[in-house]
Amino acid sequence: MRKHIFNAGPCKLSDPCLENTSKAILELGNSGQSIMEVSHRSKDFLPVMEEAQALLKEILNVPDNYHVLYLGGGASTQFAMLAMNFLKSKAAYVDTGSWSSKAIKEAQIFGKVEVIASSKDKNYTYYPKGFAIPTDCDYLHITSNNTIRGTEIFEDIDSPIPLIADMSSDILSRKIDVSKYAMIYGGAQKNMGPSGVTFVIISDDFMKSAITDRPIPTMFKYPIHVENDSMYNTPPCVNIFALRETLKWVKSLGGVEAMEQLAIKRSNMLYQEMERNSMFTSPVAPDSRSRMNVPFVWSEGNEQYQDQFMKFSTERNIVGIKGHRSVGGFRASIYNAATIEDMEALVKCMQDFEKQIKG
Ligand SMILES: *Cc1c(COP(=O)(O)O)cnc(C)c1O
Repeated sequence: MRKHIFNAGPCKLSDPCLENTSKAILELGNSGQSIMEVSHRSKDFLPVMEEAQALLKEILNVPDNYHVLYLGGGASTQFAMLAMNFLKSKAAYVDTGSWSSKAIKEAQIFGKVEVIASSKDKNYTYYPKGFAIPTDCDYLHITSNNTIRGTEIFEDIDSPIPLIADMSSDILSRKIDVSKYAMIYGGAQKNMGPSGVTFVIISDDFMKSAITDRPIPTMFKYPIHVENDSMYNTPPCVNIFALRETLKWVKSLGGVEAMEQLAIKRSNMLYQEMERNSMFTSPVAPDSRSRMNVPFVWSEGNEQYQDQFMKFSTERNIVGIKGHRSVGGFRASIYNAATIEDMEALVKCMQDFEKQIKG
């Protein structure tokens, strides 16, 4: 029996993605070979890569002067690669939690970082807004959704300098204006597919502004990957196949507009239950609450039920809700593949638990 999966990443994937990828592992089309066995330069695999790129462009309405790359190394490699290629003297970063802190740390290897806004003062429980953006920085980096803290920004900000966003955990969950960004990147394992593949959407102008007078190893140069269509080295073929299946599935359901409506509906179910339920509360400021990662912690005086609720929910086939150690309590990660039934199961579990304890 399939469980109610609320894992933070890797996470739940759609049934068509799992079914079609399983089939391709046994045989890719009529090739007589597994997707794990075919050459990445063969006529069997090339259309997979091409369609994965074309579908992302279509679904996100990516302008023509942008490139879509599928690379290895995860979002964490992009933290360094971005700065290695574009941080000439100083870059602006918004600090909204663990992932942005890690991006900042990597950037500091290559230049100065100016943290222009931070929510550290309130333990990262809100998303800073209305901050001034200095024009003397090479770029501005933001983390659009904070997977651990459960805060999210729902607008595409206007930036006078190239805007870069780590959208690992909210890509494909709302309509975005790609033209406002110089680069968008993330690990695929939260909304776009399995782990092991990283997406990068980069404007041609921004790519061409990459630093040329710094020694950069070949694998860490964006233009190399653009010139070679993400095939400078062997790409993660199986992962890209599963990513393509995920994109097909998103498109078949109505694209990002449909995903956004579902995300609002799913997350509201949980936020409303937190309002109603006397035992749980949200640690996040109301205007910053993520639709993708929803932490729920004990209201005062109920902390002692942590293990008991964990057991209670596990018995109901709910997995992945243990909170991150930096926040405590619980966190439901409700990415695109999460269903209303998954949400109903979780909400019912919280209701039944309250009844059992409080009568
Ligand atoms: C998971 C995550 C990362 C790290 O991704 P990897 O692919 O594991 O390197 C970075 N940023 C955000 C916002 C994340 O959620």
